Amino acid sequence: MAWDFSTEPEFQEQLDWVEQFCKEEIDPIDLLFPGAAKSRDPKMKALCDPLKQTVKDKGLWALFLDEELGGPGFGQLKLALLNEVLAQHGSAPVIFGTQGPDTGNMEILAAHGTPEQKDRWLYPLMNQEIWSAFSMTEPQGGSDPTLFKTTSVKEGNEWVINGEKWFTSFGKEADILLVMCQNGIFIVEQGTPGVEWLNGAGAHDHVRYNNVRVPLDHLLGPEGGGRMLAQRRLGGGRIHHAMRTVAACKKAIDMMCERALSRESHGKTISEHQMVQEQIADSYSQYHMLRLLVLWTAWTIDNSSTREARTQIAMCKTTCAEIQKDIMFRAIHMFGSLGVTHLTPLQQMWASVPTQFIMDGPNEVHKVTISRNVLKSYQPHEGNWPTQFLPALREEAKKKFAGLLADDPELAARVDSLEAAQYARIS
Ligand SMILES: Cc1cc2nc3c(=O)[nH]c(=O)nc-3n(C[C@H](O)[C@H](O)[C@H](O)COP(=O)(O)OP(=O)(O)OC[C@H]3O[C@@H](n4cnc5c(N)ncnc54)[C@H](O)[C@@H]3O)c2cc1C
Repeated sequence: MAWDFSTEPEFQEQLDWVEQFCKEEIDPIDLLFPGAAKSRDPKMKALCDPLKQTVKDKGLWALFLDEELGGPGFGQLKLALLNEVLAQHGSAPVIFGTQGPDTGNMEILAAHGTPEQKDRWLYPLMNQEIWSAFSMTEPQGGSDPTLFKTTSVKEGNEWVINGEKWFTSFGKEADILLVMCQNGIFIVEQGTPGVEWLNGAGAHDHVRYNNVRVPLDHLLGPEGGGRMLAQRRLGGGRIHHAMRTVAACKKAIDMMCERALSRESHGKTISEHQMVQEQIADSYSQYHMLRLLVLWTAWTIDNSSTREARTQIAMCKTTCAEIQKDIMFRAIHMFGSLGVTHLTPLQQMWASVPTQFIMDGPNEVHKVTISRNVLKSYQPHEGNWPTQFLPALREEAKKKFAGLLADDPELAARVDSLEAAQYARIS
């Protein structure tokens, strides 16, 4: 029976290398030149391209893609362990070729693109020669596909796209937009006439598609397959977010523990105050519960499919938001006044908490999925009483031991007195 929670020593060596590389090479760039890893500025590229080459030489580039899709084929479990390291270092995902939203877009291009689409968009995306965005959410209907209004209509040898999208993250900077219409996902290249950028919210762009014409071969996957592709994309994205949340929680706990051992109050370090100990104990326990859930889900995907693991993925999505909220709040609280400033990473980590509850679909929607799928394996009981109705269970047990009870009056009396106690009045 396989039930092993250990990491292979060879892979642990790679994880250790990644951690050291992130600390020594990536963190200093992030501190001085935020955004450098995705920048097209030659000076920033000169800083980051050699690091990306080192990652490629180590065979750690685009590690989210399976071998048949062009990646190293690590699988989700190893990716989860790597993301625990990468996600603690700002631009490490970009330096390792695993940055969102490109990862999800590459996954569906790899799985559903034609050979021509892969040559034109997937391989340049994998090499970071181009960037992409996913344009799904609409202002009037959020991410509920039944409410989408964006259409794509075939006219001669073109598709004509009309609609409005909201929160298309990094849309303006992207070279290609994967636009979800009522009848499928279409690839729209930046600069195509009719793409109108409105005032968005920071990096999350608001865009209108006004009679945008693309050739017929810009449809990704089958016509009418948009929801299926989006589910695959978002399923993968959610588990990757959960892996990154595990990393954020660990970083907050590391900070919390260092602080608890360093800060003194009322004659002792705050780690010696019981209420501080409770905060550390609760945080550490929640972190490990989340980590095990995420690793189990990643393992399930490796051994079946994203579809098979969808209940677990929904559990990761909802649980990581809750646990991140609890741990981040405690960490900030333990840092006192320093915690509420922008002089540590904690405020930025806290600011991302409400986002976790909403992005990739509100938690409520995922809780409905969990509950619906869990209930599928249950049946209502027959008659008035539940299956665990003890008097009925005892009657069955008495039938099993009927011979013994008939032969032994003392044992029969014991059973009778137990039965009498069962009906005693509750005072
Ligand atoms: C940081 C960030 C990045 C994003 N990036 C992208 C992107 O790149 N591309 C893209 O297309 N989209 C993106 N989104 C959008 C994201 O997919 C939507 O925000 C999300 O799906 C929810 O839609 P909404 O914001 O319209 O919220 P709404 O659907 O309006 O939901 C608001 C609230 O209503 C309640 N609610 C909604 N539905 C239900 C229900 N079924 N049951 C019970 N309560 C419900 C919940 O309390 C919910 O929080 C991003 C969002 C964030 C926050």
